[in-house]
Amino acid sequence: MALEKDKQPEKPLPSGTDLPIPWHLQLPDALERDFQAYFLEHSRRIIAGSFFIVALLFVAGTGVEFLVEPENVKLTWRPRLLSIFAAGGVWIAAQSRERHQYLQPAVAVFAVALSITNNYLGATVEHALSYSYYLINLFAILLMGSLFRITMRWTLPVSGLVMLLVIVSLLGFSHLPGPEILVVFFFVFSGGVLCLIGQYFHERLQRQHFLAERVLALHRSELHSANQVLENQATEDALTQTVNRRGMETRLSNLIREYRSQAAGEGGLFLLLFDIDFFKHYNDSYGHLAGDACLRKVSATTKQLIQNNRDFVARYGGEEFVVVLTGIQQNDALVFAERMRSRIEKMGIEHKSSRASSVVTISVGMAGMTPEVSRCDQFIARADEALYHAKSQGRNCVVAIHENDELRTL
Ligand code: GH3
Ligand code: MG
Ligand code: MG
Repeated sequence: MALEKDKQPEKPLPSGTDLPIPWHLQLPDALERDFQAYFLEHSRRIIAGSFFIVALLFVAGTGVEFLVEPENVKLTWRPRLLSIFAAGGVWIAAQSRERHQYLQPAVAVFAVALSITNNYLGATVEHALSYSYYLINLFAILLMGSLFRITMRWTLPVSGLVMLLVIVSLLGFSHLPGPEILVVFFFVFSGGVLCLIGQYFHERLQRQHFLAERVLALHRSELHSANQVLENQATEDALTQTVNRRGMETRLSNLIREYRSQAAGEGGLFLLLFDIDFFKHYNDSYGHLAGDACLRKVSATTKQLIQNNRDFVARYGGEEFVVVLTGIQQNDALVFAERMRSRIEKMGIEHKSSRASSVVTISVGMAGMTPEVSRCDQFIARADEALYHAKSQGRNCVVAIHENDELRTL
């Protein structure tokens, strides 16, 4: 019962959608920076297409104007170029990731240019529908949150500026009668506010989505590291921290396959099988725990000699180890084997009951990859033959088996 009580209910992992977004939308500094980059990358990708839609709208708008009053197009096409150039600036800023920082200012310039141009046309071109020029201000606000997507941080002040420009133009320069001014302003103002509210909620959603993606990436990398740990545990020998037999078989089979398919590049594949001399006597003289410590020291010394990250030391079983060397010539493999044998001897671990030396020594059998070898056991059997020979030669030596099965003691 007490145990049941002590059990804490497990906290569910955050999903990202349960993290709160503040009303002002700003995330903590580092996250905000990443969000801006994420947001702008998304905008950058849609802006090229948006540019063409905006260009089409310009052409369509001019077409409508032409149908209503062809004469007016002569007056309006030149001022309109200003907005087209500003839209071109947005397109250029969206062309590369390095120009990210210019994207939002470029969209802001475009919105203001659109507003100024149309307010100017509203004040200078007089016809029955000239109030419609002022309505384009609403497009300036709408485009910032839709086709030329920028963040609220920019949209809000730029929309404020656009509203201000409309008020000044309507009150200061317009020829429209009072009621029409009121209607136009109401349209631009209420439409603009609705656009901003829509954009606010959309950006909130996008920020939430960004956080969810972040959390998912974190979960994924945690899962990956946990798998890595499990994988390592499954292929590592607990006593010596070398690769265990299962790991060795997997790695060695892969290497054999690679070498057989000639995908391994320069150099050969070599297998050294070594066994501690008179280790049974060592255990009998110093005890099993001292034997374990000896195995750890021998394997650590061998591991230190490995330089290539594809090479490895594995505990084949008991006090027998395998060293796999890749991408080297036979002479270098022999030098390695001899250096390994002499390093272990030079450690000077006392072994008074050995008949080979007064210290712990090893016998090494070495085999190179041959066309007949297609499996691990075949490769190990060749090295084992050489090791058997080393043992019968008096131990504490290296014997290599050559391609023609000839055995040579170093
Ligand atoms: P040789 O020179 O012919 O190899 O003689 P040897 O005594 O080393 O040969 P043998 O293979 O008969 O003995 C291996 C010994 O290694 C037997 C076993 O007690 C010991 N051994 C195997 N695994 C371990 C281990 O994990 N820890 C310890 N301490 N001893 C082990
Ligand atoms: Mg043995
Ligand atoms: Mg032995």
